[in-house]
Amino acid sequence: MLTNSLVELDRRHLIHPVSSFHGHEARGVRVLKSAHGATVTDSEGRDLIDGFAGLWCVNAGYGHETVVEAAATQMRDLSYATGYFDLGAEAPIRLAADLAERSPGDLDHVYFCLGGSDAVDSTIRFIRYYWHAKGEPSRDQFISVEQGYHGSASAGAGLTALPVFHDGFGLPHDWQHKIPSHYAYRNPVGCDDAAIIAASVSALRAKAEELGPERVAAFYVEPIQGSGGVLVPPTGWMKAMREVCTELDILFIADEVITAFGRTGPLFACEDEGIVPDLMTVAKGLTSGYVPMGAVFMREHVYQTLAESAGKKAIGHGFTYSAHPVSAAVALQVLKLYEGGLLENGRRQGARLQAGLAGLADHPLVGDVRGRGMLAAIELVTDKEKKTTLPASLDPANRLFDRAWENGLIVRSFAQGIFGYAPPLCCTDGEIDEIVARTRKVLDLTLEDPEIREVLRA
Ligand code: PLP
Repeated sequence: MLTNSLVELDRRHLIHPVSSFHGHEARGVRVLKSAHGATVTDSEGRDLIDGFAGLWCVNAGYGHETVVEAAATQMRDLSYATGYFDLGAEAPIRLAADLAERSPGDLDHVYFCLGGSDAVDSTIRFIRYYWHAKGEPSRDQFISVEQGYHGSASAGAGLTALPVFHDGFGLPHDWQHKIPSHYAYRNPVGCDDAAIIAASVSALRAKAEELGPERVAAFYVEPIQGSGGVLVPPTGWMKAMREVCTELDILFIADEVITAFGRTGPLFACEDEGIVPDLMTVAKGLTSGYVPMGAVFMREHVYQTLAESAGKKAIGHGFTYSAHPVSAAVALQVLKLYEGGLLENGRRQGARLQAGLAGLADHPLVGDVRGRGMLAAIELVTDKEKKTTLPASLDPANRLFDRAWENGLIVRSFAQGIFGYAPPLCCTDGEIDEIVARTRKVLDLTLEDPEIREVLRA
């Protein structure tokens, strides 16, 4: 009864992010009630393994008492402190220092915001300011990568390269440009690593040449493209792109909103290739989803350029909740958990997850298995040789998500028939094995699905 009324209230009043409003009204909300570790319980009492850590954010797992306590203590002591007017609070100061100490190279200055989208939009503002400060205001063209996701705020949504974030919104802006993705499984140059890297390098050079290299302000990448379908670049891709940017004097931005905080193994995925971006964005795992927070890391040269240019004048960028002390207290405690064993466990379980999913490659519906650490995907096809995607008319995203749910598993189910995995780093051997076993069951059931059989026979 209670759930029914919630479903009805939700239908009438709550607008869900990135949803078909009418589609959601028709399907109705699934209400989650509680969660602990890697297990979520819904309002009907069904336990599910959260193979996607909420929205690839609950890296530490749900329900850590020490995190709850850190938030409660901070709320009791100092529930809010502005960072405006030269004011501050201990938790955000300590968090900035702790993150600077751990970040790659001299990414030593940290601006805190509320999530990934405003982190990306903050970088756009800082970058425009940077090039004005350098006396090159005409460097106002931004490049990102097809299939990329950089949030849905009004500027970053145009760096995002997924049509649903553009259609009807008048995006991308005319200063936002794309180069093709490395997407190894479907890359026109084939799946050879060196060829993929060479193609991306020449695409970036060509795009810069087309725009005029002296017009290009910045190039944005995700170390692994998340929302585009968990697309993993070949080893050496990030480094090669970083080198082109250094050579052409283009700022290189690593968007680590998904990949940071142990998702791929280390604290920051840039460490996987020894990259130091000029700016870096994080969110999600920063607070493990307990409270909202994002951050922009700035290298010394970026910070000093802004600081010297502004002099005594304020740099007009800030939010009421920049460096919120409660979020910072949570992030400090979450960082302790990561370094107290969760990163290590995540690395072990990441290897187990990758091996387990690789074991599904022989399934008739699995065209590709890819990933790194606790970030992975399987791409479903109806013809392995032709790499035929599941027909959109069968609504693979909802069909597969529902089937996984009925089998006690939460995964990201992408529109084109891709399952995305990003389990909490606290998963046990048994939970990882269950994620793989339940996935196989979902695949087997899908193979028996009359509508899928029809397509397979055709
Ligand atoms: N950048 C990347 C790479 C992301 O994956 C996301 C969210 O998934 C964002 C930015 C936006 O973050 P948020 O949803 O916290 O605004």
